[in-house]
Amino acid sequence: MKKDENKKLSASEVASAGLVEAGTAQEFITGSWRSERPLWNKDKCIHCLTCWIYCPDSAISVEQGPKGTIVTGVDYNHCKGCGICAKECPDKIKALTMETERK
Ligand code: SF4
Ligand code: SF4
Repeated sequence: MKKDENKKLSASEVASAGLVEAGTAQEFITGSWRSERPLWNKDKCIHCLTCWIYCPDSAISVEQGPKGTIVTGVDYNHCKGCGICAKECPDKIKALTMETERK
């Protein structure tokens, strides 16, 4: 019998496309194609965490200090170099600046 290629499928009839769990990118180095990198100046940083909130790749590293959560640097294994953190760091502080990636 000839298959009807115009037949509309219900959602339950569509084959699964290989779903993966959330958070699996953490296991891989996903920052290797970056063309720019953020440089963090720990002496200027006031630990407002704005960069951490805005980073789309969770690549701003933080840890708990005696006075609360503090930034400890950039996770270059996962940073894509988008520059959002440097853009969002307060103008009066500018503890993050972008520079051309060194290979
Ligand atoms: S450059 Fe982009 S990906 Fe990298 S730490 Fe900043 S916001 Fe995150
Ligand atoms: S936005 Fe700037 S000042 Fe605020 S935590 Fe990040 S690097 Fe530090």
